Amino acid sequence: MALDREYKIGASSRHCHTCERVFGVGDEYYSVVVETAQEDHLARQDFCPGCWKPDAGAYFSFWKARVPEPEAAAQRGPRLVDLGRLLQLFEHLADSPDEQAQRFRYVLALVLMRKRRLKIVESRRIAGGRGEALTLRETGSERRYGWVS
Ligand SMILES: [Zn+2]
Repeated sequence: MALDREYKIGASSRHCHTCERVFGVGDEYYSVVVETAQEDHLARQDFCPGCWKPDAGAYFSFWKARVPEPEAAAQRGPRLVDLGRLLQLFEHLADSPDEQAQRFRYVLALVLMRKRRLKIVESRRIAGGRGEALTLRETGSERRYGWVS
């Protein structure tokens, strides 16, 4: 995968992907990010607690959210996705042995670098193999993350 590809993640749909119930203020729901058939596109799907099945399919990354008060929503502006959440997912998936999770972590790294939340501070070739071992640093922090691409 090239580093310069564009990845897009949609905003919350504010309704349940399964039963289509519209969420109200204060309702809790689960959001997942899934890869879609369309290349380079990540889709976001939301589920009400009743329809949420954590073991279903490729939902290797999810978070629980709550519909904010209208004022809070307005203050947040048109941002598509919370980068802090993505960074948490990136960290969370670091130790996962699941191949799909690692592919997804790769995508997250690209998104976070595009958004200048992560920067590459060190890169070295993996001896005898293909790929690179990278050290990423969180912008504005001393926090570092290992990443193999
Ligand atoms: Zn539902």
